[in-house]
Amino acid sequence: TDPAKIRNFCIIAHIDHGKSTLADRMLQVTGTVPDREMRAQYLDRMDIERERGITIKSQAVRMPWDVGGDSYALNMIDTPGHVDFSYEVSRSLAACEGAILLVDAAQGIEAQTLANLYLAMENDLEIIPVLNKIDLPAADPERVSREIADLIGGDPDDILKVSGKTGAGVEELLDRVVERIPAPVGNADAPARAMIFDSVYDSYRGVVTYVRMIDGRLTPREKIRMMSTGADHEALEIGVSSPEPVPSKGLSVGEVGYLITGVKDVRQSKVGDTITGKMNPAEEPLPGYTDPKPMVFSGLYPLDGSDYPILREALDKLKLSDAALQYEPETSVALGFGFRCGFLGLLHLEIISERLRREFDLDLIATAPSVIYEVTTDDGKEVTVTNPSEYPDGKIAAVREPVVKTAILAPKDYVGAIMELCQSRRGSLLGMEYLGERVELRYSMPLGEIVFDFFDHLKSRTQGYASLDYEPMGDQEADLVKVDILLQGDKVDAFSAIVHRDNAYHYGTMMAERLRKLIPRQQFEVPIQAAIGARVIARETIRAIRKDVLAKCYGGDISRKRKLLEKQKEGKKRMKMVGRVEVPQEAFIAALSGD
Ligand code: GDP
Ligand code: MG
Repeated sequence: TDPAKIRNFCIIAHIDHGKSTLADRMLQVTGTVPDREMRAQYLDRMDIERERGITIKSQAVRMPWDVGGDSYALNMIDTPGHVDFSYEVSRSLAACEGAILLVDAAQGIEAQTLANLYLAMENDLEIIPVLNKIDLPAADPERVSREIADLIGGDPDDILKVSGKTGAGVEELLDRVVERIPAPVGNADAPARAMIFDSVYDSYRGVVTYVRMIDGRLTPREKIRMMSTGADHEALEIGVSSPEPVPSKGLSVGEVGYLITGVKDVRQSKVGDTITGKMNPAEEPLPGYTDPKPMVFSGLYPLDGSDYPILREALDKLKLSDAALQYEPETSVALGFGFRCGFLGLLHLEIISERLRREFDLDLIATAPSVIYEVTTDDGKEVTVTNPSEYPDGKIAAVREPVVKTAILAPKDYVGAIMELCQSRRGSLLGMEYLGERVELRYSMPLGEIVFDFFDHLKSRTQGYASLDYEPMGDQEADLVKVDILLQGDKVDAFSAIVHRDNAYHYGTMMAERLRKLIPRQQFEVPIQAAIGARVIARETIRAIRKDVLAKCYGGDISRKRKLLEKQKEGKKRMKMVGRVEVPQEAFIAALSGD
């Protein structure tokens, strides 16, 4: 295709503002998907995505569109909307010349609208602002148009108004994409350079790699090279998605398509990497490549210990399609054998545990999420801690924790409540801006404070109106300590936590109290203690009982006695021993999940 007849764009929006629905309408209006084959959220392929209505992996689709007698190829790249996947969002944006900034006309601008807009501006994209859901009675197009114009400039009356639901305004929007978004430019004669913006595992075809050609050309059967690793593969098939895969004779400057090399693991075809030809390789890769780095860690354990091999196999499988997932075996006194897993963020953690539950039928328990700490001991040793139970004993010289730049958007009435919450989480205010009726608050905050139920608190203090976005901004030294929980003097590893010194007492008393209520009485007294090193900071006691279930039966009914004995045996199966103390596994699980 002549690059002058190509337009590459993406839709950026806050979650639920209607990106997938608008994409559906575009597929229909352009005749890319016939009406009879249309189903809601056509591009969201994973079951979880469709059920939860979120896009986890981005997809690209090519659509024909005619303007003024000329035929154009529109490549629409659907980006994931969530902060956990912001690196993937940034790579999808780098594959485009323009972006549709979609804003719900009833809601207005939200945190991820801004985060994605800033990413689009960093990538020099032409922005087309669009109001969506104008069919809603609650839509307030005038107010929201002004919000948008305040933000990006321009005339509020120029902003297109569409409904992804009814299809109103969608054709005009496609015309505008052709008019406003620049055609791609690149050097057709230079060595091939293609940027990978997505990499998807397919159990039949192996890894399908989505690319944007920047320079040169790639053809089927050609030997190609991954520039970050130098690994060579053969391009077995090259094609475009429209939206089902259609093989083609190659991809040239400005085109968006897929290629299949037969590799079986997305780590061999990494998002952000540059593909070149083996025969005539490019000298410099395209800028912007980074390896995905897990930010949040949690231990995953099967409820039934005999499921451990299934869990291992399941993780091996998921890793094929998820380059960011990391894991290694771990054992816990309280929970048995499991894996310490690394995730991009909390949603990533949730998605993986949900896929393990659903696709592999596993019952799992996850320990409280934790972040990466860099600990320097008094004798100068440096230790990276992703699991509180690995925190070094003895004297600590310094601890560093990750910090994120947080942006919170909410109606301005909630400013006080939000500031109070952020301060209680050791946030420091970086800036504040009013956008009409809404306010954006920017804080630097320890990531460890955010992974600990921050979002729930933010939502409840703002009646659900606040939205949150964050990005890494380095690390800082902090006065952190490890709090251990002990049962009769024995540490229960799954409950150790790294917290700020000021919160240690609160955490210790809360956990000790929870466990006292959950652990049944034993034949002897059991002290529950919270401690920092050897110093006990909180204590609860489970009083002793004589546990004799038969005493209730007055020696009478034999069959009833037997039933009780069997019941007791049944209960014992799921008991864990911590020192001499018998604890039902359910108690640990309930204490971890806080209910
Ligand atoms: P995404 O998270 O941005 O992909 O949003 P979705 O496309 O999944 O839409 C979120 C919700 O808004 C769904 O319940 C849609 O049915 C609804 N929705 C999307 N577009 C419109 C619209 O134009 N009008 C109305 N009334 N509802 C819409
Ligand atoms: Mg969606």
